[in-house]
Amino acid sequence: MIQITMPLNFLGTVYREIRQALVDMAEMFDLLEQPEEVSDKPDAPALAVRGGAVNLENVTFGYDPARPILKGVSVNVAAGESVALVGPSGSGKSTIGRLLFRFYDVTGGAVKIDGQDVRDVTQVSLHQSIGVVPQDTVLFNDTIRYNIAYGRDGASQDEIVAAAKAAQIHDFILSLPEGYDTAVGERGLKLSGGEKQRVGIARTLLKNPPILLLDEATSALDTETEASIQEALKRAGEGRTVLTIAHRLSTIADADRIVVLENGLVVEEGTHDALLERGGRYATLWYRQQAEDAEAA
Ligand code: ADP
Ligand code: MG
Repeated sequence: MIQITMPLNFLGTVYREIRQALVDMAEMFDLLEQPEEVSDKPDAPALAVRGGAVNLENVTFGYDPARPILKGVSVNVAAGESVALVGPSGSGKSTIGRLLFRFYDVTGGAVKIDGQDVRDVTQVSLHQSIGVVPQDTVLFNDTIRYNIAYGRDGASQDEIVAAAKAAQIHDFILSLPEGYDTAVGERGLKLSGGEKQRVGIARTLLKNPPILLLDEATSALDTETEASIQEALKRAGEGRTVLTIAHRLSTIADADRIVVLENGLVVEEGTHDALLERGGRYATLWYRQQAEDAEAA
């Protein structure tokens, strides 16, 4: 009996880990953008996370070797620090997220977490350590409880509620006809974009990853929704290393540090105030967005 159940349990665990990793990936990246295979080294150890420091060391990369996207990018995020990546569309921000997940291998330099090259550790352990709050959260045709609990097997009701509260979605859930047992998804109650995103945040909080990767929505949510999502994301980032891929500068002004990418290089780095004072690329982007917002209002 024991001989049979042990390997089955083990396989079950591995299967769940892989499935979770696949869902995270599918949520963050367009499935059509499937990368070439990267594989674990034989006998690769699991990533040993201490504080969750992320280091890109002089990284070069191109999807097509003839067209470099990153031309020697160094970004250092200390454990517990919150860093935002900004830059024009196509400057390589999301690519950095993909390299952190090791969907692709760098062509030069290295991506390290707590000093360990992501190429040297198992992908399952790597993906477990990085929580993603994607632009579009995929909902299953099941209860809202199930949709949040998906972040971690065996989560208790208390933990699910705590995650929902931190994600600013608990009160909304209580207002539903059957509360946490309300069926959602295509065949149930349809949630708005902002509600889905908060379910995604709750799911990620339950997973409790030391590193959080946020790829911000480009679509303009209405201001009220955006404020509650910002609050949820702020709570989510407490005590974690946070790398935000930002499209809207207004949402990252309070990041510990902002890194500006352009043409495959880091062109500026600093706090929001320091970068505004500098009057360079960031300041230009900032005032342009302010003007656009004023026009739209
Ligand atoms: P950003 O997030 O800053 O807007 P990306 O990192 O998504 O930019 O893309 C950087 C560049 O890489 C763009 O020119 C984009 O067209 C290109 N790119 C992105 N994904 C792929 C891919 N899977 N294959 C080839 N080129 C890609
Ligand atoms: Mg992007």
